[in-house]
Amino acid sequence: MLEQIRIVLVGTTHTGNIGSVARAMKTMGLSSLYLVAPKEQPDGQAYALAAGASDILAQAKSFDSLAPAIADCGLVVGSSARSRTLSWPMLEPRECGLKAVAEAKQQPVAIVFGRENSGLSNEELQLCNYHVCINANPEYSSLNLAMAVQLLCYEVRMAWLGQVGQAEIEDTANYPTNEQMNSFYQHLEQTLDDTGFIIKQHPGVVMTKLKRLFSRARPEEAEYNILRGVLTSIQRFSSAAKQAKE
Ligand code: SAH
Repeated sequence: MLEQIRIVLVGTTHTGNIGSVARAMKTMGLSSLYLVAPKEQPDGQAYALAAGASDILAQAKSFDSLAPAIADCGLVVGSSARSRTLSWPMLEPRECGLKAVAEAKQQPVAIVFGRENSGLSNEELQLCNYHVCINANPEYSSLNLAMAVQLLCYEVRMAWLGQVGQAEIEDTANYPTNEQMNSFYQHLEQTLDDTGFIIKQHPGVVMTKLKRLFSRARPEEAEYNILRGVLTSIQRFSSAAKQAKE
């Protein structure tokens, strides 16, 4: 089940950190490592720091951007040392471990980590369902990348060990994948453009705020299908209204 929980590193600069991440993961029983646009592919330095976890490095998957690396995930948690201008639904590291383990039974789960110098971009953070922040010294809260991975993987392991041996494992809802939510946001934007609520050329913060609202609400798969149907019906209605005018 732990292989359903992937660690995604975005834009990593130091290959040594990639190696240290592989080691941190393996010590906690995680094995699925995804690399998004690393500055350099894993090299000798990465393998040296991975030590006995070189198998995880060798199997790491590479992507050019974040969206395709998490497209199939039902739960995506972005880790960030700072709170951004637009606050997002937050998890404590412990809750992050529990949620990841609970939801990994249904669909793949991703925990996403940012660049050493600048973290994750706002756009990348908005692709996530939740953000997780390790409550550190407010005067110096930025952990080394591999250490942040170690700590969150430890929480995943503790949550997983807590469940082992439990006869009845609670079922969680089925959620739309990240790819489905992105296509819903495009559908929503198109519909709001059709009705004249927003002007695509001047989107402002409306779409970002709506994304935050739906992240907070976390529609389940069945609710997601209803929302898509609602949008389609609005689009039909507004195109019929436009035709009647002409
Ligand atoms: N200077 C960057 C920090 C980058 S540290 C910034 O201000 O965002 C590299 C990555 O490690 C971060 O993107 C984040 O994914 C993770 N990380 C470091 N410290 C963290 C913390 N206190 N809580 C959660 N994630 C953290």
